[in-house]
Order: sequence, then C-alpha cells, then structure tokens
Amino acid sequence: MTEVVYIGLGSNLDAPLKQLQRAVTELGELPKTRLTTLSCWYRSAPMGPQDQPDYYNGVAQLQTELPPLDLLRQLQAIEQQHQRIRGRHWGPRTLDLDILLYGDQFIDLPDLLQIPHPGLYQRNFVLLPLADIAPALEFPDGSQLAMRLENCPSEGIVRLSSGDLCGTTG
Ligand code: ADP
Ligand code: MG
Repeated sequence: MTEVVYIGLGSNLDAPLKQLQRAVTELGELPKTRLTTLSCWYRSAPMGPQDQPDYYNGVAQLQTELPPLDLLRQLQAIEQQHQRIRGRHWGPRTLDLDILLYGDQFIDLPDLLQIPHPGLYQRNFVLLPLADIAPALEFPDGSQLAMRLENCPSEGIVRLSSGDLCGTTG
C-alpha cells in the first residue's frame, strides 16, 4: 500500500543548503519510495537556544510503501550519514528529518514516533513549505492548512528565491 508522506528537513550547520540538497538525493534513493515534490527552502531564526546559526528548512513529499517505523529508521540512518551528533534539545544539527504526516494516520508511540509531528501546527517553517507543495492540504483531524497558517506566527522566516530548488522533481 502506497502512502503519501511529508518529511520536514532542517539544518543549521556545515553548509546547511548543501546538507539539505544531499538529503533530498538520499530521500529519492530510499527503497520502496519515490520523492514526488519538494518545497522552496526557507531560512528561519532558531527555536529554543538562540546562540546558534539560523536554520534552513523545507518539506519533501514522498510516496512510500515503507511502514512508518521502517521509514523512521531509514531517516535516522540518513541523519547519521550527515554526522549528526545529538546534543542538547533543539541544539544545532547538520540534518534533522521529521515525519510530519503519514497519509491520514495518527500514530502515538511516545518518545519513538508521533504523527502528525507534535510541533507541526506551531511551526511556520513547516507550514509555509507545506503550503508550497500542497496548498489545499487537509490534516488528519480535518483542519485545513490555510486555517493552520492563519493561526501560526509568521515572523522570523524568509523564503529563499532559489528557483531550481523549488517545485516538482518528477
Ligand atoms: P527534534 O526533531 O525534536 O529536534 P530529534 O530529531 O533528536 O529531535 O528526535 C528525537 C526523537 O523524536 C527521535 O528519537 C524519534 O524517535 C522521535 N520522533 C517522534 N516522532 C517523530 C516524527 N514524527 N518524526 C521523527 N522523529 C520522531
Ligand atoms: Mg527530528
């Protein structure tokens, strides 16, 4: 069974846009998975500790036959390939890959996997790129992306006009 899945990508260390571009290639090479659409990239002020560089973020749409926990393991393996070191909560990282949505499923495995991603509705750096690729999206709880965006703070984020990094990848 193929599901439509949205992955949030983030980086704020070691040439973030290069980290993200490489991650996009790696997502496209996952087994039983096709990368279907990519958002624009955004730059945003860090959440939590402020003594760290700005973040670069985007969202990728995948179609996958991997079950949720297999997908999570694959994403963590990609993070490892980017020499991600887990430090303090919300601290700097070379690559963060979060499963935002997995079809219209709700998954609640505390500390392991929560879908929709718990921060989804509060984070403009997730909602804005989602709106690039799926403006009419309805969330599993029936709420609309447009409504969620209206209720989310819009400051501290810039869309990077980097033409070839936006849009459908095939
Ligand atoms: P964060 O993304 O919150 O800054 P991490 O990337 O270090 O933190 O993730 C911490 C843990 O979050 C991971 O060990 C993973 O098991 C868990 N997790 C829970 N839900 C999700 C999700 N939807 N996508 C990715 N990881 C998740
Ligand atoms: Mg994460």
